[in-house]
Amino acid sequence: MNKAESESLELDLTERSWVCAREPGEADLVILNTCSVRKTAEDRIWGRLGGYKPKKQEKPFKLVLMGCMSERLKEEILNEAPHINILVGNFQKHRLLDFIEDSRAEIPSHGRKAQEAATRPGRSTPCVSLTAHGEYRFSDLHYNTGGPRAFVPIMHGCNNYCSYCIVPYVRGPEVSRNPKKIMAEISRLDKAYVREITLLGQNVNSYNYSCNGTEALTFPALLKLIVNNLKRIEWVRFITSHPKDFSEELIRVISEHKAICRHIHLPVQHGSDRILKLMRRGYTRGQYLNLIERIKNCIGGVSITTDILIGFPGENREDFRLTLKLMEEVGFDDAFTYRYNPRKGTRAYQLEDSVTDSEKRERLIRVIELQRRISKKKKMNKIGSRCRVLVEGFSKKSREEMLARTEYDEMVVFPGKKEKIGHYIRVELTSLKGNTFAGKEVK
Ligand code: SF4
Repeated sequence: MNKAESESLELDLTERSWVCAREPGEADLVILNTCSVRKTAEDRIWGRLGGYKPKKQEKPFKLVLMGCMSERLKEEILNEAPHINILVGNFQKHRLLDFIEDSRAEIPSHGRKAQEAATRPGRSTPCVSLTAHGEYRFSDLHYNTGGPRAFVPIMHGCNNYCSYCIVPYVRGPEVSRNPKKIMAEISRLDKAYVREITLLGQNVNSYNYSCNGTEALTFPALLKLIVNNLKRIEWVRFITSHPKDFSEELIRVISEHKAICRHIHLPVQHGSDRILKLMRRGYTRGQYLNLIERIKNCIGGVSITTDILIGFPGENREDFRLTLKLMEEVGFDDAFTYRYNPRKGTRAYQLEDSVTDSEKRERLIRVIELQRRISKKKKMNKIGSRCRVLVEGFSKKSREEMLARTEYDEMVVFPGKKEKIGHYIRVELTSLKGNTFAGKEVK
């Protein structure tokens, strides 16, 4: 979501004649779009903020902090980082450009906007704080890269309040985007030669749009509407799904439409019922496994990836063993694994963080190693096979080598020329290096 919102902001800035600095030291305006999901993400931003302080003295520039950290840590930021010029949360970002424009000569603005300025002793200039909650506004377009893949937000916020998660507090309740606006964005992307879109939301399965008492449009119906109106775009993905909202109808729609990638990211978070309950996830281990079975039975060749959270308060060895067991039972194609860290304001924050750091680290390593083994085995079975990929650019290593992705979001590098970028081609998978396939183009 942050990536999509950043692209949209870049687009707006470009429309207002801003150009991208060749390097950070040249910039007149620096915007940090932040994430609060994990402590590490916030720590990184604190580090950046510290680094920008002396740089601002060398060469003045306007510093903007936007996103979830601005929502969550407003007071702390205002106190600790007096060199920030504008603080903008998730609900006021549409006002940011006006503030930037008003203050091209000097930020912050004064006079009519002074009521929004937060002055602190020792702060040379007041910081404009745009952090009031309001209705979330979707931008019209979230694509500025010129590449073949694009994000399309379809909903925002979350009503689930999983006990460890800060998202509902900083992103607010669920809001579904008007389908006409979604279709208009996709139509523009089609014309811009985008070839693959990813529908975005904190919980896309609960998309539900109704207007003036009309019958609500659900996520499976929206998916159908989208894939039935595509022109050049051939692949559609979506993230993130919640297992409790993954309906039979959705499974059927995916199975009936080839344009919907056979890759489902379905965060399980844990394998123990006791921990799932404490997490307030709304499903049991058995229900999750049953859902996976139904998905696999109905959608041929589907790839399933997940998120796993290790070290939740109270997690004991048996809970952990059940998680490893579930990973083996499902045979996830890949997993994002992370360890619990308390987020102030969440329900789990009240629980004693009883798993020690070293236990969390040790368990996380075991989870990562197990997933690597499973992923590698599954990928090795594909060596020698042929598949369709979308070429997205040069590989990191060489301009003679292209990077592409399969329908399952697996990376493939192969010798090729830049003319292939943005095209679907067929490759034979010849070997595996780490997590990336090497391949060659075939007819
Ligand atoms: S579903 Fe749970 S984990 Fe996902 S964003 Fe909502 S509260 Fe957070």
